[in-house]
Amino acid sequence: MAVMSAVNPQQKNDTGVYTFKQDKAIPSYLMAIAVGDIKFKAIDNRTGVYAEPSLLEKSAWEFAELGKMVNAAEKLYGPYRWGRYDVLVLPPSFPYGGMENPNLTFLTPGVIAGDRSLTSLLAHELGHSWSGNLVTNATWDDIWLNEGFTTYVEHRIGEVIFGEKEAKMQGVLSRKDLNDNIAEFGNTNPDTRLKVNTTGKNPDDAINEIPYVKGYDFLKVIEQAVGRAKFDVFIKNYFDAHAFQSITTEDFVSYLNENLIKNDKALADKIKVADWIYKPGIPSNITTVISEDFNVIDSIQKNWRKIGVKGLSQKIKSTNEKQHFIDYLPEDITVKEMAEIDAEFNFTKGGNFVIKRQWFVPAIRHHYTVAYPAIEQFMIATSRTGSLATLYKEMVKTPEGKIWARQIFNKAKSGYHLTTVQDIEGLLK
Ligand SMILES: [Zn+2]
Repeated sequence: MAVMSAVNPQQKNDTGVYTFKQDKAIPSYLMAIAVGDIKFKAIDNRTGVYAEPSLLEKSAWEFAELGKMVNAAEKLYGPYRWGRYDVLVLPPSFPYGGMENPNLTFLTPGVIAGDRSLTSLLAHELGHSWSGNLVTNATWDDIWLNEGFTTYVEHRIGEVIFGEKEAKMQGVLSRKDLNDNIAEFGNTNPDTRLKVNTTGKNPDDAINEIPYVKGYDFLKVIEQAVGRAKFDVFIKNYFDAHAFQSITTEDFVSYLNENLIKNDKALADKIKVADWIYKPGIPSNITTVISEDFNVIDSIQKNWRKIGVKGLSQKIKSTNEKQHFIDYLPEDITVKEMAEIDAEFNFTKGGNFVIKRQWFVPAIRHHYTVAYPAIEQFMIATSRTGSLATLYKEMVKTPEGKIWARQIFNKAKSGYHLTTVQDIEGLLK
């Protein structure tokens, strides 16, 4: 069957000729087509999943809350204007987590965890049906309009579907991402501004996490300054006013000034629009993020070396909690301690895609060789560039790690997407 970023068939036909209809205006980067041994299964009357037959039932179960997510987003930001919302599960050579092609989000099979623990990615791709696909960045210099807004929308949908506790955890994780990225780039680096300058660059090379997480934090600042109720109305109206148009950062700023700030000097000082958009680094008025659940994990982190790890997996349960625990393992952790944690949580063999990716970073850093075969297997089995880059970057920090990285890359590259090969080759030079 062939499917597109359009109104799609739900069954294979005998002629092999397929026609598609997309009657909404879309930018060229949102045109996509996929052909394969794929079948369709409905989730409810407007959502469904396309996947290879062996993954179809699993995928439909994993994404059972898709319809609820669309409803939650509509309640916040107005009607979903595209008709159907389906997802297509791609082979592991797909180089991204997801791509928000209209009507049909393309997804990595890595989100099929078997326990619905990674479906927040769906909330992100769905969010693009408003920010990105409905209101589109005019140039890649304005990509934060797509990704920052969508990260904000993703968190809001997540709050409805997964609850406030999970939302608070996401907020803290997202802040860590921002801090890590700013540290990597340097806080005076112009690439850490929201409005970037991609002139003369491959836009793909200019894309990193900053437009996502810094954009999100900018919108959180506005939300806090004007109150959530008012901000929700503003965003809904913003989507309506620019529906099916491409806009620049400056268009957004004018709209913000005219419709929300309205010459209120005190409010403008509170938000600091220019600092957020045109200056590098993190502005002083960034909001404070707290997760009480993460605070509990932080106190566990302080004590487990003294009292042992037994029973911890009963206290640290969700993907977000495990990720937070792994991210802050002590810098001087021993191989013996890594093995004890692994025995308690089974991260090496039993973790979902995200847990494995996070766990393999300290495993590489601290030479936890028990995990090496699993690391290799993981890096050969996926082409998700961002996740692979995290691991390759950790490996190349030591000369022997670099040799190992090259060995894995040589085994894996025939299964990687071309863009993944190019990006990873850059890291291994
Ligand atoms: Zn996105």
